[in-house]
Amino acid sequence: MVPISRRNLLASLLFVPAVLRGENEGEKLFNGRSLDGWKAGDHRHSFRVEDGKIVAAGPRSYLYYAGRVQDASFKNFELKVEVIARPGARSAIYFHTHFQPHGAPAKGFAVEINNTHGGEGDDRGLRKTGSLYGFRNIYRPLVKDDAWFQLHILVRAKQVQVRVNDTLVVDYVEPDPPVHLDASPAGVLDRGTFALESHDPHSQVAFRNLLVKPLPDDLAMATDERPVVDDVYRDLLRMNQQGFPVVDYHTHLKGGLTLEQALASSRRLGIMYGIAVNGGVGFPITTDAGMEDFLASMRGQPAFVALQGEGREWVKLFSRETIAKFDYAFTDAMTFTDDRGKRMRLWIPEEVGEIPDSEQFMETLLDRILGILNHEPIDIHANPTFLPDVIAHDYDRLWTPERMQKVIDAAKANDVAIEINNRYRLPSPAFIKRAKAAGVKFSFGTNNGDPNLGRIEYAVSMVKECGLTPQDIFIPKPEGEKAAQRRKAT
Ligand SMILES: [Zn+2]
Repeated sequence: MVPISRRNLLASLLFVPAVLRGENEGEKLFNGRSLDGWKAGDHRHSFRVEDGKIVAAGPRSYLYYAGRVQDASFKNFELKVEVIARPGARSAIYFHTHFQPHGAPAKGFAVEINNTHGGEGDDRGLRKTGSLYGFRNIYRPLVKDDAWFQLHILVRAKQVQVRVNDTLVVDYVEPDPPVHLDASPAGVLDRGTFALESHDPHSQVAFRNLLVKPLPDDLAMATDERPVVDDVYRDLLRMNQQGFPVVDYHTHLKGGLTLEQALASSRRLGIMYGIAVNGGVGFPITTDAGMEDFLASMRGQPAFVALQGEGREWVKLFSRETIAKFDYAFTDAMTFTDDRGKRMRLWIPEEVGEIPDSEQFMETLLDRILGILNHEPIDIHANPTFLPDVIAHDYDRLWTPERMQKVIDAAKANDVAIEINNRYRLPSPAFIKRAKAAGVKFSFGTNNGDPNLGRIEYAVSMVKECGLTPQDIFIPKPEGEKAAQRRKAT
C-alpha cells in the first residue's frame, strides 16, 4: 500500500458523509412496490417495478421524482442509490433537474452509469460509471456488470462529489461565475429533482434502495477553493464535453508525489491519470514480483495503471502475462546502444557526448525506434522524436518527411499510439498532422519528474492546432487485445 500521511488520513475521515457512516440513512424516494411519487415523460412503459427494484429497459425515457420528500426540490443533499447494469447497458441519474414531458432533461447534471456500453455514432461510450457527465469523466470502469454497486452523490453549495462503492471519483467545484455551455443538461448548480434514465431497449439497468438526505440550503462546501477559469480550463472542459479521453497517460509518483495527492489533483483538474511505474535495468522494479506489488497498491483506484519499460532490456525482465495485467505499457527510444556498442541515455548530455555526424546519428536513432515499434509489446510510444540537447535545435531539419513517415508507418502497422508529450513539447505539429492523416492514435502524457503535473497544455494546444478529434485519441485496449497479449515473446 502507498502510505497515507496522517493529515490526509484525518482529512479523509472528516469528509466521510453521514450516510456512509451509517447514521440517518435518509428518506426513501421509492417505496419498493410502485412508482408512486415518480412521473415519466415519453415512453413511461420503459420503467417498471420488479422485486423491490425500479427496472429501466425500453425506448429512451426519463423518470422524475415528484413525491413528497422536500417537495421534490433539492439543493444540498446526499443521494444513495444501489444500481445493477446488464452487460453493455447505459443509464444515468440526474439531479437539479425538472420534469419535462418530452426529450432529455435540459437542466441539471447527469451521473453516468456505463461499465461496458460501446457508444453509438461518434460517441465512443467512454464516460464510465460515476462520471459527472461532460464535466468530470471517468474513463476506467470501476465496477462490473451484473453486480450491485452503490452510487453516492453529495452536493454541498458549489461542490459535487460522486462515490462509487465508497471510492471518491468526482470532486467537482463549480467556478464563480459558472461557465455557461451549450450543453444538455446545462450543468449549472441550482436546485431541482432527480431523474432516472432508460437509455435504450438494449440497456437494462435496475435501481433499489434510493435514499436521500436533504441538507441545509446554507451548507458550505468542504473547500474554499474555487477553480480559476482560464483558456486551458475552458479547453479541457470543452474536450470533456466533446467526449475526448481527457487522460494524462504518462504520470509518475515521483518527487514525493503520493497516490492520494495525484488522485486529488486528478479530481480537481478533471484530468484522469494513468500512473506509470518504471521497470528496467537500473530502475526500482526489475522483476514480475515487484510489478505485482505495484499493481496491488493501485487496485480499485480511479486511475489507469501503466508500465513504462526502460532500456531495451525490459522486454526480457518481465513476462508477457505480468505486462498484460497493466492497462497498457509504453516505452521510449531515449535509451539505446549505438552501433559501436555504447549504451546512452539521450537526456544525459555527458552520456551522449559530441555528435559529429548528426545524419548518421539520425539513421541509428530511426533504426532503434523502428525496432521498438516492430518488436516491443507496447501500446504507446512515449517521448516520441526526442533528440539530445546538442542537436535538438536542428529538430525540423533532421526529422525529414521520410524519417517521420517511417516512424508513423511502423506505429500504424503495429497499432501503437504516439504520445503527445507535455514535458518536451513533442512531437512537432508537422509530425502530428502527418500521423493523424495516416490514422495513428495519440495519447496525452506529461512524464513528470516532480510533483507538478501541469494540465497537458501542449496536448491541448495540439488538439486545436492539428484538428484532433475524440476518435484520434488512444483508449486502453480491452482484455485480450493489449500489445502484450497480441505480441508473443520471441
Ligand atoms: Zn516516464
